[in-house]
Amino acid sequence: MSTPRHLLARLRSLMARGAAPLSEIARLVASELVAEVCSIYAMRPGDTLELAATEGLRPESVGRTRLRVGEGIVGLVAATSHPMNLADAQGHPDFAYRPETGEEPYASMLAVPVRRAGRTLGVLAVQNRAPRLYETDEVEALETVAMLLVEPLAAAGASDGGEEGVGATLPRRFTGSVLVPGLVLGPIVLPGAHAPRRLLAEDPETELARLAHALESMRRGLDELITDRLPGSGKTSPEAREVLEAYRLVASDPGWLRRVGEAIRGGLSAEAAVHRVAGELRDRMRRIVDPYLRERMADLEDMAGRLLASLDGGSEPAAVPEGAILLARRLGPAELLDWHGRGIAGLVVEEASPAGHAAILARAIGIPAIGGARGIIEAAEAGDEAILDAEDAPRGGPAAQVILRPEQEVRLSYQRAMHARSERRAGWAALRGLPSVTRDGTRVRLMLNVGLALELAQLEATGAEGIGLFRTEIAMLARGAITEVQEQASVYGRVLDEAAGRPVVFRTLDLGGDKLLPGSPPPEEENPAMGWRSLRIGLDRPALLRRQLRALLVAAAGRPLSVMFPMVATVAEFCTARALLLVEAERVHPAPESLQIGTMLEVPALMWQLPELLREADFISVGTNDLLQFLFAADRGSPLLAGRYDVLSPAMLSLLADLTAQAQAAGVPLSVCGEAASRPLEAITLAGLGVATLSMPASGILPVKAALAAVDLPAFRELLTALRRTGAAEPSLREPIAAWAREHDVPV
Ligand code: PEP
Ligand code: MG
Repeated sequence: MSTPRHLLARLRSLMARGAAPLSEIARLVASELVAEVCSIYAMRPGDTLELAATEGLRPESVGRTRLRVGEGIVGLVAATSHPMNLADAQGHPDFAYRPETGEEPYASMLAVPVRRAGRTLGVLAVQNRAPRLYETDEVEALETVAMLLVEPLAAAGASDGGEEGVGATLPRRFTGSVLVPGLVLGPIVLPGAHAPRRLLAEDPETELARLAHALESMRRGLDELITDRLPGSGKTSPEAREVLEAYRLVASDPGWLRRVGEAIRGGLSAEAAVHRVAGELRDRMRRIVDPYLRERMADLEDMAGRLLASLDGGSEPAAVPEGAILLARRLGPAELLDWHGRGIAGLVVEEASPAGHAAILARAIGIPAIGGARGIIEAAEAGDEAILDAEDAPRGGPAAQVILRPEQEVRLSYQRAMHARSERRAGWAALRGLPSVTRDGTRVRLMLNVGLALELAQLEATGAEGIGLFRTEIAMLARGAITEVQEQASVYGRVLDEAAGRPVVFRTLDLGGDKLLPGSPPPEEENPAMGWRSLRIGLDRPALLRRQLRALLVAAAGRPLSVMFPMVATVAEFCTARALLLVEAERVHPAPESLQIGTMLEVPALMWQLPELLREADFISVGTNDLLQFLFAADRGSPLLAGRYDVLSPAMLSLLADLTAQAQAAGVPLSVCGEAASRPLEAITLAGLGVATLSMPASGILPVKAALAAVDLPAFRELLTALRRTGAAEPSLREPIAAWAREHDVPV
């Protein structure tokens, strides 16, 4: 067999003359690979492969011989997207005999798929009389030619199915947990998986030099990551360091680099070579069971992505297609913002829990997201169509799924659901400018939870009355650093500017737990959620907290300022934090027009300090996410516990009823700002218990407003009182409350 380099050089000169006829390509491949037959099959609408060109089979079969996807060797290659290498093709149980081709004399066969953006566009096959298995380098050469065949095949009218969904491999389903509710249908995007623009290169030496350069800069990047930006690098975080060190070793792995080098010497451009070897890795990864090896392969694949980005050398990141769903193993906040800028519509992060910061940030910017769905990255190809179904499960249970390459009927029913949803949305839109009142005329203030200044646009879009929770740590997580006073002040100032007089409640840094403090080592703790986090860090590092308080005061300058502290467990902690704020307030001029200092109620212990707390705090906001976690001792980030304990449980409802009664008696404003407030059933229940302000992600505002508008609170309150008496031993009162809502036409 001639070297692929010679083959590629001839192909290049053939293609340089313009759109090369497939028949010429088939002739050239047959002669270069010393095959008696070379055939090119093109995918046609209706899941059919049609013989488009051949060297060696009867010419009259071109345009006539057809195989359905899954039929015969060629059909099987198209269906599985894997090459088949057979010494005795006709002895294979799936062999489909087509007399018009005259292929009886040929025993051995090698067939590879031609793929474009995750879909099969055709199949390329060679055959020989002598029964033999083809060598690895022959398989690789044919796969390289298949890569080059994409354009000519498309030019010859091959269809990759597109709308009809043909040509793709089988549908697959992956389950995970809802990180951010929503429904998205669109093509899969994999970081670093875009097809290289330039496939062939004249001069391998130049390409090898480009590869070496890109490798060097990638390694430097990794070194920086290890020494500079890794929290606890050096002494305190040996595990994280080890991970990155292992990653660096993989980057120097001679095995895969040799293969890339060979592909370049064979005539490919550096990026095409990396792309090809990465593709082979993914194929191998699909078949690996051992978790250690899988992880290593995954690292290699990640590495290929980085290398491709580095070979792309600073070119503008391309926008993604409409509806794109990004699949990532892990995702840092800055990366997520990058992808947001490029227009992704949905997100699947294999290693993320609902309370992790990828989730919080995704929620903050409103991208539907799923955590878990393990295995999807190996199973998906860039461009595969997928449905991300993260419709809000009743109690945030692990009910989310991603359907990869959905069947036609499944896709249609989702499209109908999305259509109905957008119609429902259009109905809600009419509520936007109306005040939020229940049917009996009780006002319930609806506010937004946000974490980035760019989300302030949602005030207008939803008609929310203000910001009930501004999570200040989100901007820091996105920035990857705790910023200086001036920079913080300009962020908070912008928030107040854009709120244009509507109230804003700033929550001080709620870092720690899984929201790692940038630049500091994570403390070694058994239970980070109950560990050194949030206000506890602020009280132990008063300089850090005071910087933030100063920035808030500077930003307010003559305007009203509301500040609340998270994770307060004792009245004394609240008083210490407030004292720090008051000291700073003495120093900042101009002073805010007014200063309200409140607390979150997330730790149950505060319930037994209420009289004192209500004397000290200007307002209280209940964080049901953490409160539920601490009340039931149930990690909010654990997928195993998701949905096990309910906000609508008698215990939680009693707590909230006591709290509202005492806060009302003391004249202290009370709000709820956990995710529960954004779900209509929970929201009407909170209103029923007497909570006058609900703060929630933007997606909740209009549905909650619609539900409240349909509730007669006095009647509903009677039901709640009765249920709490009769159902005190039940784990949840959700069902009877929902039944009442249905009976009374409350849209929940
Ligand atoms: C909560 O705990 O309910 C809350 C609003 O805070 P976070 O979700 O940011 O912890
Ligand atoms: Mg909280």
